[in-house]
Amino acid sequence: MSFKNGNGLHLVMTGAPGTGKGTQAGVLKRKYGVAHLSTGEMLREEVKKGTEIGNQLKDHLAAGGFAPDDLMIKMVSARIEEPDCAKGFILDGFPRTLAQAEVLQTMLSNKGITLDAVIEIIVPDDVIIDRILGRYTCVTCGESYSDKYHKPKVEGVCDVCGGHKFSRRLDDTKETIERRLNKYRNFTYPTIEYYKQNGLLRSVDGNGPVEVVAQRIEQALKKE
Ligand SMILES: [Zn+2]
Repeated sequence: MSFKNGNGLHLVMTGAPGTGKGTQAGVLKRKYGVAHLSTGEMLREEVKKGTEIGNQLKDHLAAGGFAPDDLMIKMVSARIEEPDCAKGFILDGFPRTLAQAEVLQTMLSNKGITLDAVIEIIVPDDVIIDRILGRYTCVTCGESYSDKYHKPKVEGVCDVCGGHKFSRRLDDTKETIERRLNKYRNFTYPTIEYYKQNGLLRSVDGNGPVEVVAQRIEQALKKE
């Protein structure tokens, strides 16, 4: 495919929690050599490192709220200047609100970057709940797996690093997942509308095996 910026792929990946957008971002990262920028992970890193941004964030995150837009955009803006973004990037988990989508647009155009597309991954709620409840990760390398949808090729052995230890998140219950889905609908749907209007939105059916969904994304990217 051809890229709007000539030098790489610049994407926003969006979708409710549990739609597999992180996994798909990983697939694209390996294929196109782009950076996968998970803002959730970036935030946790900043807090862990105790950076200025991290310290300001701590209180907001502890209260269960979204990180303030100005901090988010500052963090993302600095991050995409780093060398691993030379061939492009996939933003995962940002923008989450219409206001963030608008500042992102301004920030990118100031840098002369045009988004190639916004991939929205759609999965029915009951499948999402099933997926999240069945989710576990490799303790050693962080690769994520699922009881039903993405088991390691050899049971009990991580495909990526060969590790044997896995962990599950204990705070994932049906109720907390439903709450997160509602939050996503209330805050993030307006960004979907926004990207639909400016012609960037590509909605992809995320129900199915990882490879099948990856092919659908590939097809969606070819659409002009
Ligand atoms: Zn591993």
